[in-house]
Amino acid sequence: MNIDFSGTQISLQPTKIVCTCRNYMEHAREMNEPKPDEPIFFIKPPTTIVPDGSIIELPSFSNRVEHEIELAVVMKDKCKNISAEDAIQHVLGFTILLDMTARDMQNEAKKRGLPWTKAKCFDNSAPLGPKIVPPDKIKWNDLEIRLSVNGKVKQHGRTADMIFSVEELISSASKLFTLYPMDVIATGTPSGVGPVFPGDVIEGYIEGIGALTVKCGKSP
Ligand code: MG
Repeated sequence: MNIDFSGTQISLQPTKIVCTCRNYMEHAREMNEPKPDEPIFFIKPPTTIVPDGSIIELPSFSNRVEHEIELAVVMKDKCKNISAEDAIQHVLGFTILLDMTARDMQNEAKKRGLPWTKAKCFDNSAPLGPKIVPPDKIKWNDLEIRLSVNGKVKQHGRTADMIFSVEELISSASKLFTLYPMDVIATGTPSGVGPVFPGDVIEGYIEGIGALTVKCGKSP
């Protein structure tokens, strides 16, 4: 898809979306999970991405799809094994990602020791936008982050409350795999995750970036 970057439309075609699990303490608590010792990642395929303003279809195999708002990093160049100190040099900018999650499928997978693919990788499970803001225009380590459903605030926090910083996450991810230009790293969600239903309007807001709005549609 195309997305605004400093007033120009650019093509966003990542090779992968690297997502971070429980990177805010209050969210780890609400999931009944301990504080992680190191960043924990999973991958969403690029087919999960849809732009601002989309109608997202909730998958028919789930009875409980939940919202997770996340600050997302878009990479600028190909890199591997980079240090936290050098990480921001490799960042094109920041945007908003909704890590839509089939929570019932995720709980089932956790119970049975199965991967999270069904819970996390369905089509349109990663609304992204509305634009990419370059690092020199945003204080990424202390931003207000908020999500509302039908105008009611459900998640509200600050990126300062992350367990692992943006720089640490980029460095850790780059040690697992080569990062490519336009690859996306989602940095985890604050507490307050909850279900959405057909007809619901989800608005994600991050200070300095703006609002990403999607509407939930029926199952395909
Ligand atoms: Mg998430």
